[in-house]
Amino acid sequence: MHDHTEEPIENDSNNTSPVTPTCIKCIQCGYDLTGVAIGGQCPECGASVNISFQVSQNTTSGYAIASLILGIASIAGCMFYGIPSVICGPLAIIYAGKAKDQILRGERIPASMNMANAGKICGIIGLCIGLLGLLAFIAFIIIQVVFVTM
Ligand SMILES: [Zn+2]
Repeated sequence: MHDHTEEPIENDSNNTSPVTPTCIKCIQCGYDLTGVAIGGQCPECGASVNISFQVSQNTTSGYAIASLILGIASIAGCMFYGIPSVICGPLAIIYAGKAKDQILRGERIPASMNMANAGKICGIIGLCIGLLGLLAFIAFIIIQVVFVTM
């Protein structure tokens, strides 16, 4: 009897080398290295994929930075009737989510998660303050109108 089991070569088996996640570009020529083996070379210019991969891993997520700035702005913006808070708060929460996606895909340094979480928390606080401020402002206007018309 023969023991001829021919298995198709698939990516999920353990004999394949790790490949780069999405959106990693060659630092030398900008070639998209998605799916290229880590430890290999750029198909375009021959530069080490390792270097490009490590650079991407050490890059802070721009979304995390934006989230934190918007989160702080949403709290600081409460003094203008809460209008900046109501705009910046939800954006901070959205950007925090985008930053998390990037980190989970392995495209950005995991430490960015702390920044994104801080931005998200600030955004939620800012949004709440903003909504209260906006309600207080609307109530103030209504009271003014009522008193003026009376
Ligand atoms: Zn290249």
